[in-house]
Amino acid sequence: MTALVDFRTCPLCEATCGLEVTHQDESVIRIRGDQDDVFSRGFICPKGSTLGKLDQDPDRLRTPLVRRGGVHEPATWDEAFAVIESRLGPIIAEHGPDAAGVYLGNPNVHSMSGVLYPRVLLKMLRTKAIFSAATVDQMPKHVSSGLMFGHPDLIPVPDLDRTSYLMMLGANPHESNGSLATAPDWPGRLRAIRERGGKVVVVDPRRTRSAEAADEHVFITPGTDPAFLFALAHVLFDEGLVDLGDLQPHVSGIDQVAGAVEGFAPEVVAGTCGVDADRIRRLARELAAAPTAAVYGRIGTHTAEFGTMASWMVDVLNILTGNLDRAGGAMFSHAAHEQPRSRRGFQLGRWTSRVRGLPEVRGELPVSTMADEILEPGPGQVRALITIAGNPVLSTPNSDRLDEALAGLELMLSIDVYLNETTRHADVILPGVSPLRRAHYDFAFNQLSVRNVANYSPPLFPLPEGTPDEWQIMLRLGAVASGQGADVDLGALDDGVFAMMVGSAVSNPASSIGGRSPEEIFAETRGDRGPERMLDFLIRTGPYGDGYGADPAGLTLERLEAAPHGVDLGPLHPRLPQALCTPSGVVELAPEALLADVPRLRALLARERNGGFALIGRRHVRSNNSWMHNIDVLVRGKDRCTLQINAKDAERIGVGHGAQVKVTSPAGMLVVPVEITEDIMPGVVSLPHGWGHDLEGSALSVAADRPGVNSNRLSTGAMDPVSGNAVLNGIAVEVFPA
Ligand code: SF4
Repeated sequence: MTALVDFRTCPLCEATCGLEVTHQDESVIRIRGDQDDVFSRGFICPKGSTLGKLDQDPDRLRTPLVRRGGVHEPATWDEAFAVIESRLGPIIAEHGPDAAGVYLGNPNVHSMSGVLYPRVLLKMLRTKAIFSAATVDQMPKHVSSGLMFGHPDLIPVPDLDRTSYLMMLGANPHESNGSLATAPDWPGRLRAIRERGGKVVVVDPRRTRSAEAADEHVFITPGTDPAFLFALAHVLFDEGLVDLGDLQPHVSGIDQVAGAVEGFAPEVVAGTCGVDADRIRRLARELAAAPTAAVYGRIGTHTAEFGTMASWMVDVLNILTGNLDRAGGAMFSHAAHEQPRSRRGFQLGRWTSRVRGLPEVRGELPVSTMADEILEPGPGQVRALITIAGNPVLSTPNSDRLDEALAGLELMLSIDVYLNETTRHADVILPGVSPLRRAHYDFAFNQLSVRNVANYSPPLFPLPEGTPDEWQIMLRLGAVASGQGADVDLGALDDGVFAMMVGSAVSNPASSIGGRSPEEIFAETRGDRGPERMLDFLIRTGPYGDGYGADPAGLTLERLEAAPHGVDLGPLHPRLPQALCTPSGVVELAPEALLADVPRLRALLARERNGGFALIGRRHVRSNNSWMHNIDVLVRGKDRCTLQINAKDAERIGVGHGAQVKVTSPAGMLVVPVEITEDIMPGVVSLPHGWGHDLEGSALSVAADRPGVNSNRLSTGAMDPVSGNAVLNGIAVEVFPA
């Protein structure tokens, strides 16, 4: 057979690059960037070229595993589901639905089934014990967006391709490829800002690669970003630089914000932030004077004790400078699958967690309390856990405690591509699908994109005979949990799920098919069950869709399939006030829940620093959180799992480059080699996350050769009280020679 070339979208990170895949006989020969992709134009990072290696990885699970006598043994799908049926149902029947918890890992949002079907499974489970990676690193953005704009997914992104001034805090897109702002080739887009005469400023406790490439880098004490942002806002009010522009009639709460930032003059916050007051004033003036500007904060600002305050103030600054919702500022994407949203607004804390009384956010509980919910006896205790595409033992806080909790569960089920540090506790592991063997459309990241695009890729290779797709696995699991049994007719079940989706659209007068007959819509939609049918429906009823005949030139899945390099839907366009979902119909600049947290931020200014170190994380372009360290080409080379420390600090504690040090926190202790650098602030140390592949019982042969250490053994379970997000940045640690 001759080699074939196909195009697909990389599902590994948020950048959504187009790939050109040369393959033969279900084997990848080469992957490179798709030069004709409408968005990425040939850009690719080292991870994207390894999808073939991931597909061929001998450690990737291809058959279910059932643990018998402490050993994971291969089983058929029916055998695996028989075990699940015999054990999950009785736990739910005896202890109620909350006895079965669910953890959803980050890769779910990179898969069509992972976005569409967990919600069906959760409905069938009827549990409130829901946890996800969202409370590891991004919930503050959802919460501040929900409170300000009325919907947690209405998130402004920097209009990278048109802005003339970009201030980034806690973001390192040269390594991460961008997050909560989808753009292939961030380095090229940032370079272009400078080439067209603009300016890029990076605020970060580390001189990252992104900081190196910027016009200006501002060192800042970890965890103090909101105080710095408050001070910028203070200057804008103080110097009469506030100008909301066209947004003025659509914003409420300006006076309350002016009052909130009153005590945060640059001279007051300078010592706490480690940033000179004159410099803060100058940056505020630059921001106000730039023809267009965007402030963008990411993971370093969100994984901190004031994560939601920082996220809020980023958007407040964009509004105060008149840059929200205008070209070159911070804008809202308009994804091809987006459906009309209600103006119900956003609520926090509709229920609380059982053990610590923590408020629910977006229907889930903070993952930092998952171990509590498993370990603490009493009504509602989590006795069974389902993990889907996640490795919380490495990726969530206080991991030693979680590891202990998982070991004591009555039942654990996992859907995953690997027998990893988490799934080694599972009684049944159901293999997930290799990314090359499933279709892809980016539900999550098209709605965070700096340009409106749509791209659909069919599966490159077929699933092996008899292997179910992930949507079928989740539906079957849901059928077991809801008492319908493992032998349920999955096709009929999926038809029912789809009928509900259609029913809710036709009953919505704002939908392009509002008032039509559900049967008619059902009959006109493509017949294949699973996520493609839903995607076709969502595209056709979305903002560019054909509306089932209303606009014959509009998008359908068939049209996307005919465009392997994607469909360009144009630059972002102003969407306010129409897109707002607040009951008031305006931007709520000063939500009560955030104003109530200001005194806590004020108390930070009076806090004495102890003599130890503040631990921060770091990313690397060849890592993908915890789960791609089993790909040899991505882990080769010098050890990346090191503790970065400033040269002066290294001298003070008496360690040389490469020496082993002990790092301790109230949660745990690690021994790790040091890497001495001038690129980190004195008093700050940095460890990457996602490592620690040396736990007995996992089967990751490549990763085990270079295990590294798990930085989450040092994170304490502390969280941002507004969003429940984990505090992973700015953890107080001590460092000693080992
Ligand atoms: S940047 Fe992200 S989407 Fe692009 S090739 Fe790399 S992993 Fe894939």
